[in-house]
Amino acid sequence: MSRFLNRQYEKLEPYTPGEQPKTDGLIKLNTNENPYEPSPRARRVFCEEQVSKLMLYPDPEAAELVNAVADYYGLEKEQVIAGNGSDEILAFCFMAFKSPSDKVYFPEPSYGFYKVYSDVFLLKSNPIPLKEDLRIDPEKYKNLDGTIILANPNAPTGIALNLEDIEDILKTNESNLVIIDEAYVDFGAKSCVPFLRKYDNLLIVQTFSKSRSLAGARVGFAMGNKELIADLNRIKFSFNPYNLNRLSVQAAAAAIRDDEYFQKTRKKIIETRTWISAELEALGFTVLPSSANFIFVKSGSLSGKDYFTGLRERNILVRHFEKEPVSDFVRITIGKEEDMRTLLSVTKDLLTERNRR
Ligand SMILES: *Cc1c(COP(=O)(O)O)cnc(C)c1O
Repeated sequence: MSRFLNRQYEKLEPYTPGEQPKTDGLIKLNTNENPYEPSPRARRVFCEEQVSKLMLYPDPEAAELVNAVADYYGLEKEQVIAGNGSDEILAFCFMAFKSPSDKVYFPEPSYGFYKVYSDVFLLKSNPIPLKEDLRIDPEKYKNLDGTIILANPNAPTGIALNLEDIEDILKTNESNLVIIDEAYVDFGAKSCVPFLRKYDNLLIVQTFSKSRSLAGARVGFAMGNKELIADLNRIKFSFNPYNLNRLSVQAAAAAIRDDEYFQKTRKKIIETRTWISAELEALGFTVLPSSANFIFVKSGSLSGKDYFTGLRERNILVRHFEKEPVSDFVRITIGKEEDMRTLLSVTKDLLTERNRR
């Protein structure tokens, strides 16, 4: 720490990203990336002709992408803003919106950035523990006195709330902004987009990183009423107007227009999830009911740490969180079927080894 660091950040604990290994040959199931390449239409964007235009700034409004998202969801273009990953969009939200109490409510555990952004932007984080079954208790989000942020489906559990529960939260928090982070919604949950017509306290955040196979391109977006989106644009244009590069804007617009590829790849992921969940359950695992592109699982005999370490030693990377109440679990991204077959056979070996001891 230098002597120049803003004192307010002395105790700031940054977000810990999942490992991005520098070597090949690992089966990477730790950061919920899509195992399938981006849509061929998105890939065609990265051509000589487009690269040769990189001396020019991108469109600060990212109109091509904003229009494509608005078309996809049947919204007006003033209801959409794009960002450098949904992480940046979430940061804009924390900068732009603040309740009189300064409080932010979110589930614990959930996506780690909610706490980090509360700290960076000097808001008071109020984590609300999950129920014993690791579900969000919607009752605890009624009539609060601050901003609410919920991942739906939640991470790292993969469990989704139903829309009736979300609607109750919106109704009972008329004077609070409710942000729904739909990073994983395409893998089996229902989007809140239809609620945008009824509730002006709703903001929805989505990403191209998971269901659209573009994590490396860094594209996310928010949808809300025009005033909320104008507020976010006020922040964006005061911070980084050219937040999205030319190629990513075009790739993401092409990806969201390729519905056929999207449907095909997400269906495969859902099928693989169903299959691997049943296989692991047959081996005595507890598998939480996932609506995401990952599963959160607990072995009947191996600790979370031992299962994580055993897989790592055999070149399979998954995610383990040390803290309670989830330290017995590991989070496994749904990869290609062949990778999940390898995971399954390695898991069987680990269980056999364990029983011999
Ligand atoms: C992955 C993820 C994001 C961030 O995605 P970006 O890559 O920044 O678009 C946001 N929220 C949740 C819950 C996520 O899992």
